[in-house]
Amino acid sequence: MRIRTSFWGFDNDNPVLFENALIEFDKLGNLVNINETLAEPSAESSTYIDMDDFLCLPALCDAHSHFAQFDIRGLGDGELLDWLRDFVFPGEIEMEDYNKAYNRAYLYFKESKKFGTSRIASYSTSGEIATDAAFKAAEDLGVRAFIGNSMSDENFAEELCKSVSENIAISERICNKWHNSNGGKLKYIASPRFAGSCSMKLMRACADFAKANDLNIQTHLSENKAELDLIKSRFPEIDTYTEVYDNAGLLGDKTFLGHSVYLSDRELEIIKEKESIIVHCPSSNIFLRSGIMPTRKYLDLGMKVCAGNDIGGGVSLSMFNEAKSIIESSKIYKTICDQEKKELNSVEALKMIYKNECFLEGKSTIINHFATGKELDLIFIKKERINFKKNIENEQNIASALIYYMANNYVDAVKIGAGKIEEIEKK
Ligand SMILES: [Zn+2]
Repeated sequence: MRIRTSFWGFDNDNPVLFENALIEFDKLGNLVNINETLAEPSAESSTYIDMDDFLCLPALCDAHSHFAQFDIRGLGDGELLDWLRDFVFPGEIEMEDYNKAYNRAYLYFKESKKFGTSRIASYSTSGEIATDAAFKAAEDLGVRAFIGNSMSDENFAEELCKSVSENIAISERICNKWHNSNGGKLKYIASPRFAGSCSMKLMRACADFAKANDLNIQTHLSENKAELDLIKSRFPEIDTYTEVYDNAGLLGDKTFLGHSVYLSDRELEIIKEKESIIVHCPSSNIFLRSGIMPTRKYLDLGMKVCAGNDIGGGVSLSMFNEAKSIIESSKIYKTICDQEKKELNSVEALKMIYKNECFLEGKSTIINHFATGKELDLIFIKKERINFKKNIENEQNIASALIYYMANNYVDAVKIGAGKIEEIEKK
């Protein structure tokens, strides 16, 4: 397949615009090349798909989300622990019904795709039925997903707690059934919910299971101050929250630490040494009054940082909206916490979003959208919708236009893997 369009993406972590790009894929959906071309469209129009009216980008990826919380977005005005009790528990418990779970997951993945997201890491509930249903929905929609049952064994809603052996048995069955299925689009991700609801025994068993099967791991870390007190009371013999996970063997270069708002220098050192990844969830951190992550400080320290919408703590499935929150939260941090720290700009915010795929796929920590021989999912946005002006655009302006014009708007078309260019229904 050959597509003629304007293409904006990252080459070795730097944004690049090809105004007259010719993108060529092989039959498997792997990129053959992206070239600037000056050929007149009419000269060879039968040999390519003409998408000249669109700006084409690599598809987006979400590194932290909860499909089962899709229906509770925006509810309540409490902070994390009260909100979990009042909204998350009842919302997740009803996912024990296969059809309800399938329908919620289907709608969530379908909506995500409309916002241009082709790859998502999502927690499920603790249940096997809901997790199985979510994988089926992702398969039916042809999206790429990392999904895992959220493990808890104590100090949480009784219906969402399972014994250590039961949690691991569910993981084994789901992993055997779904990991690397649908042409490698679907992956199992080990998901101990957080140290507030997991015993040390469960976290160690989960770490062993992930290691034995070479899996990514996702959990929550240092999201909220009341949560920090809870962890201290549950593990008084361990100095810090990060060291609880380190003790359990959960930290490594395939480990995703959602939120990570309140980290001491010692904790940052441990995370960096273990090469674990911090997943910034700024819109959720603001909705649940959790706090403002010192993003620039983490980047300056060389931490690996990517981003997630954390549905339902976050309310929008749009990763352009999350990029907007990344910028806004860094501006708030600069205004009220540290005026020495420069806020993140639009290119940096989108770079953080595009790091999601690099870290989740574990291939490279540098973004290379022009790398040949690799799968490249694409999204298309009508140029007029972002006020794109031919011959005068630069990479920074485009990043800003995408974030501020497209936050909470559907894209126009999506192409995943070897699939065709799929037009997005705007309803
Ligand atoms: Zn979360």
